[in-house]
Amino acid sequence: MWTPKVCCSKLSGVILNLIQDLLMDRVNTSIQRQSNIEFPYMPRLKLISSDNKILREKNAGVAFPLSKEVRELIDQMFFAVRKFRGVGLAASQVGKNLRLAVIDLNTLEIPPFAIINPVIKSKSFRKASMEEGCLSIPGKYAEVKRPETIKLEFFTQGGKKVKLKAEGFLARVFQHEIDHLNGIIISDKWDVKTLRDIPPEGS
Ligand SMILES: [Zn+2]
Repeated sequence: MWTPKVCCSKLSGVILNLIQDLLMDRVNTSIQRQSNIEFPYMPRLKLISSDNKILREKNAGVAFPLSKEVRELIDQMFFAVRKFRGVGLAASQVGKNLRLAVIDLNTLEIPPFAIINPVIKSKSFRKASMEEGCLSIPGKYAEVKRPETIKLEFFTQGGKKVKLKAEGFLARVFQHEIDHLNGIIISDKWDVKTLRDIPPEGS
């Protein structure tokens, strides 16, 4: 996901605990594979555009413990989402049909993290509309209506199951990425009347 305006969002205690868990999980994972670390990674991933059928194909569940290939893919995706100035990136967007995505909310001071095999368990009846963009549809933004609050479950890189209630902007980012894992992109649900072009920076 990509957004031209990141709204302010208060971080609840639950989210702060999640961040602690994610940080510990990443530290532990890094220690386990210290001998394999090659930094800095140069992103070798290319973005798939919205007309590519890979974005519509079924995404397979990810097995634990993570294979070397999947661990490397996640590391590459962390660099790619930052390089492309996104806030989220699903594996299908870089040509891998797997049920995983990375989220990078550095503007909210949340460290980047992966969501693996995520499932939305419930959605609020109340919906909200906000402008969204997608790295697979560069330069296009439109309002998308989504449930305001969701409950979801996902696995961290270390295989820890996280149960979370998310609201506001964070709930939106999770829903955008989980849509990708189900073959759905924002052009399926955006309000075309609100569509506008913002050329990508540097172009
Ligand atoms: Zn997207």
